[in-house]
Amino acid sequence: MTKLSPIEVHRLLPRTNCKKCGSASCMAFAVKLVGGKAALEECPEINDARYLRQKLALKELLSKALAATPTKFVIHEDKCTGCGNCVDACPANVAISLEVSGGKGSSSRDLVLSIEDGVVKVLNVKACRRFEEQGNESRPCSVCVDSCPYRAIEFM
Ligand code: SF4
Ligand code: SF4
Ligand code: SF4
Repeated sequence: MTKLSPIEVHRLLPRTNCKKCGSASCMAFAVKLVGGKAALEECPEINDARYLRQKLALKELLSKALAATPTKFVIHEDKCTGCGNCVDACPANVAISLEVSGGKGSSSRDLVLSIEDGVVKVLNVKACRRFEEQGNESRPCSVCVDSCPYRAIEFM
């Protein structure tokens, strides 16, 4: 999935440019929403019954985008079974603890990904290779996404 764009958000807003949200236009408000500098509730127009479907779609889009880590990956805990495939396959995890690549797990808090309470958690996002590769994302690491049989991890 590509990064959430203001154009995508704008398409779902009422597009009346009424300025009730305090922004000069719906597009300006969309830019703020994507940047996490405004909340959908600041647009009173979206509560109109005519826009119900758009409101629900916006909520879903924004909650995914804002839940993403700084490296833009999102874990869907409802889909994760805690199988540990991604934990064992993550090259950054293996570099930190060889025990991980043998499927033995590790309790190190330095790991990027670990299983806690039956689901995968991001413990140390700064060690993720996507974090290092920011600004040079032509071929970002996607091993965790590719190793998940349940599509529980995705990139925004
Ligand atoms: S309040 Fe809503 S409809 Fe009005 S300009 Fe802001 S985003 Fe657009
Ligand atoms: S993107 Fe790569 S380095 Fe980052 S958590 Fe996933 S597998 Fe590990
Ligand atoms: S995210 Fe996927 S691969 Fe990783 S533990 Fe959960 S289900 Fe397994």
